[in-house]
This record gives sequence, structure tokens and C-alpha cells, in this order.
Amino acid sequence: MSNIISLLPEHVANQIAAGEVVQRPASVVKELLENAIDAGATQIKLIVKDAGKTQIQVIDNGSGMSPFDARMCFERHATSKIKSADDLFNLHTKGFRGEALASIAAVAQVELKTKQSSDTVGQLIEIEGGKFVNQTECQSPVGTSFSVKNLFFNIPARRNFLKEDSTELRHIIDEFERVALPHYNIHFIMYSNNNEIFNLPPSGLIQRIMGLFSNSMNQKLVPIEQTTDVVKISGYVGKPETAKKKRGDQYFFVNNRFIKSPYLNHAVYEAYRELTAHDAHPAWYLFLEVDAKNIDINIHPTKTEIKFIDDKTIYALLHSSVKRALGKANVGPSLDFESEMSFNIEANTGNRIIEPPKVSYNPDYNPFKKNSGGYKSAETELERSNKKNWETLYEGFKSNPEELIDIPLENQIEGQSELKQASVTYKTFQVGGKYIVTSFNNDVVLVDQQRAHERILYEHFLSSKEQKPISTQKVLFPVHLELSTNDFVLIRNLDAEFKLLGFDIEPFGKNNIVINGTPAELGDFNAQQMIEGVLENYKLNLLDKKVDIHDNLCRALAKNTCIKYGKNLEEAEMQMIVTHLLNCTDPLYSPNGKPVMMEISREETEKFFKR
Ligand code: ADP
Ligand code: MG
Repeated sequence: MSNIISLLPEHVANQIAAGEVVQRPASVVKELLENAIDAGATQIKLIVKDAGKTQIQVIDNGSGMSPFDARMCFERHATSKIKSADDLFNLHTKGFRGEALASIAAVAQVELKTKQSSDTVGQLIEIEGGKFVNQTECQSPVGTSFSVKNLFFNIPARRNFLKEDSTELRHIIDEFERVALPHYNIHFIMYSNNNEIFNLPPSGLIQRIMGLFSNSMNQKLVPIEQTTDVVKISGYVGKPETAKKKRGDQYFFVNNRFIKSPYLNHAVYEAYRELTAHDAHPAWYLFLEVDAKNIDINIHPTKTEIKFIDDKTIYALLHSSVKRALGKANVGPSLDFESEMSFNIEANTGNRIIEPPKVSYNPDYNPFKKNSGGYKSAETELERSNKKNWETLYEGFKSNPEELIDIPLENQIEGQSELKQASVTYKTFQVGGKYIVTSFNNDVVLVDQQRAHERILYEHFLSSKEQKPISTQKVLFPVHLELSTNDFVLIRNLDAEFKLLGFDIEPFGKNNIVINGTPAELGDFNAQQMIEGVLENYKLNLLDKKVDIHDNLCRALAKNTCIKYGKNLEEAEMQMIVTHLLNCTDPLYSPNGKPVMMEISREETEKFFKR
């Protein structure tokens, strides 16, 4: 029999490798930014067009490359960063596999311009789909510019797989943040479709955090600094009262490389345990420095996992440093610094059992009772505004309930019309501040008040697309809001949708918006809380649902503006909810698919009493 094994052609091998390295435009951004840092750049400019689908360009003022290296860098396993396997145990660069550029060039049209300071002219190289097209001399400043056009132009299946621009741009910004955050001594600039998104001059860490996320971050964070023989921990953690529902700004960097680690997350969450609600997620920006020898580097560079040789010690130290920082800032349990918190643990060289440092605290401590906590007052404020919202929401149509939602009768589902008519004439009453009890055709029906109202509002907002935009009510005092860059970009992308739903929102300088108007039906809302809540829900929805933008926004808005449990309802309000609910297309389920109504039929009741 003849031989059947042959080596894959180079360009096919590169395309396969590209599958791992280049998942989406953001992967290209990460690799190019990291290369620029490894090249010693002090200024790095990222330019993206159409969320990187049309073009990604990274321009740095680093070392540049010689004409030979400029050609070589696109070869697989071409790297200047390691020479032997021993170097792997003492890595100080981001890259070392020499895979990224070969992979990127295999799936895009790449143009490289580069010049070293010792050369008089630069080099221009063009590569398309892994095929070398051209190399000439060119004018170039010292440094390197990579331009990556039409990613996946030669693999339509992968190009089609890319998400909408707002999602891809979000991934790019995520990568940009992960790289720019630890390298605050480097000037980073980012443009998206000719708009400057970031301009971050060299600074300290806190200024970089403020530049990337929001200027108010410096009031929300507590510093951490802890040096031991095993690890140096530094950075910032969020004050407990700024913890959010959505897991957001949680960053670990090990030797300035972004990593994800459920194990280390746990150490930090534990430190917050008595200070935040169990579903609240604190922010953190934590930097761990460990000897490169003590990290298992046998991991793929595009992955973000890491293995420490000494992970238990690191866990214990991290946990106690966070707890200590929170205590120091007077936001945590009282700590006895003198006796128990001074430690300097030696590297775990033998079989010595490391005991986590102990932290003493008052088990009766209750942050909600503390004057300085600010938590309690925030909650009552929210409660108060909810109450008010509810009142204004229904104020206008107490006299004419049909005005709220004007869904034509013919839209009603067949067979339900009987129930609908019946409902208006039947009595309602409320139990437990949560359920409306009513009766249709001799059946007992329980309605979940919050879910019912969420369903009603959701369908109401949804109808703004097919029917008419929701009218806007100008607010008396325009509300200024500062958002994180990600949220700012998001809200700009959702501009048209917000308009449709009756919002009048304008950009106002960097990361700031002004709210001039809100949907008329919502009356006098706390706009800040609502917008923040809506964006948070919108992002949560993105994580686990494949809903379209309008639908997602309607869900988020309904969730944040519906009446809540605990609200005492008057008879007329309850009847209105029941009536409007029955006018909904899908009255049985909340937008998230949770049951809204429970029915106990006449037969079931009869059967029960027959026993
Ligand atoms: P790696 O970073 O793993 O070495 P890459 O494929 O990303 O592999 O890059 C290959 C080589 O090209 C690098 O080792 C480096 O020598 C060179 N190189 C890449 N980008 C730049 C840059 N921006 N400036 C200077 N040299 C670069
Ligand atoms: Mg690299």
C-alpha cells in the first residue's frame, strides 16, 4: 500500500493555528498591543474601523524591526523572545510562541511598516491570507505599525460568525483595558471609527483606572499594598457599598498579565463576605507580582488561566490583604493590626504547612447599622423613589385606565377574551404585599404583582417599534451622568433605541451624558438609578440570551421601572394591573419566562372539599 501521510502545507497549518489564536477582532488587538509593549513602546495608538472588522491598526514607537526581522516575524515559531527552553522559566515578555503574527496574517490582509532607529529608511511589507505580496522600502518613523484589514476575508464562515459591531467593540475595549490598565506608564490612545475613545497619558495607577472607567473611581476605591517573600500584592479594591449586581470590574494581573482565577476570586469574595449582599460583586484591580519561576507557564498564551506553585499561600495572603485594606479604610470589621496582621511569609520551599494568617473581627458587626455605612440610607432612598415612581406611573389614568396600554382588542388571544371581560368586574385583594388575588369564572387566580407589571411594561415598550415611538416627557432639571467608557459607548450605540422608547439623551463631553427627557408614562423617576440599572440589566441579558437590541432594552427598562414586591396596592390599581395583564400577548409569563399567574380551578376546589 502507498504512503498516505503528508505534511500540511504551511499556509494551511497557519490557518489552523489561527483558529486558536484569532477568535475575533479583539484577539488581534490583544496580540498587537502586547507586541508593542514587548517592543518597549512608550506610546501605543489603536485604531479600529467597524469594530475591527474592516481595519485594526496598532502604531507604536518601540524598537522597530530590521528588514530581515520584518519579513521573519510572520513565520510560524518566529520569535525574538526566547532562544531556548530554559528561557521559558524566566519569561518577562507577553509573547514567546511566535505564533500570533503568522496566525493573523493567515486570515487577513496585513500591512507592516517598521523602522529601527539605526536605519535610515523603513520597511513596508504586505501579506494577504498568509501569502507574501510585497516588500519595499518606505518612509517611517521609528517604531512599528501593523494594519490588519478585513479579518477572515478568506474564511467566510468565520467572518459570518462575528457578532454585531457593538458586541465586537465591547470585546476590543475589554482587551484594551486589560492591557492599558497595568501599563499605566505607557501612553495609550484608542480611536473607533475616527472617534477618540481613550487618550491615556502616562500616569499613576489610580489615574489610569479613572481614565479607563470613570473619574469618580477614586472615591470608590481603597488601596492595597502588601509585600512578602512569596508575592507582592498591590492595587485597589472597591468599597463594599459600591458593589454591583453585575460582576464587572474585577481584574487580576499577575506580573502585569491579565488573568482569570476563580480560586483567587474566592479569596477576595471571602474578605467581603460580611460587608456586601451575597449577590453583590465588588470591584477590584489587583496586581500580584511573583517570581516567574513560581508560575507554571505551560499554558496557552491566549488563555487567561495561570497556575501558581504556591497557590494556597497566595490565597491566604490575598484574602488577608483585602480584609486588612477594607478594615483600614474603616469599612470592614474592626481588625487588630498590631498583633496579627504583620506577617512576612517565607517562600514555601519544603513540606511546611502554611497556615493562613488569622484575622480577628467582631462577629456581631453589621454594616447596615453603621452610621458611616451609607448603605441603609441608599436603600430607603431607593424605596422612596420606587414608591413615588409607582404613584406617578398610575396617576394619569386612574380615571381612564385604558390609556396606559392601547393594545387593540383584535390582538387578544382567542379564548381569553372571556377571562378578560370577566376580570374587570371581579374583586381583587392583595396578600403579603406580593400577590393579587382575584377570580375569573369561578376559578381563583393569584397574580404576582411585580412580574405582572414587568410583563405589561415590557409589551408596552416593545410596541414602540411596530406602532409609535413612546412620547417623551422633558425633565425639569436635566440629569448629568458620568458613565464608564464601556457604558458610554454602549449608550451611544443604543441611541436610536433609547429615542424610540421616549428617552432624550445627549452625549456631554467624555463619558458623560445628559438626560433631558424620559418616557412620559414613567413620570418623575430617579433617572440616574434607572439608567444605571437598565444598562446593567441590558448587559446581563447579553450574557445569557440571544435577544435583539430592542427586545433586550425593553426587558431591561421594564425590569427597572416595574412596581416591586412590598408595594401596597389599592383596589383600583390591582384591577388595572389585572386588566392590562390580560391584554398582554403572553400574560402567563414574565419576560424572563417566570410564571405570572396561578390558577386554582373550580374543579380542584370542589375536589378538595369533597374529601
Ligand atoms: P511573539 O510575540 O510570541 O514572539 P509574534 O508573532 O507576536 O510572536 O511576533 C513575532 C516577533 O515579531 C516578535 O518576537 C518580535 O520580535 C517581532 N515583533 C512583533 N511585533 C513587533 C513590534 N510591534 N515591534 C517590534 N517587533 C515586533
Ligand atoms: Mg506576540
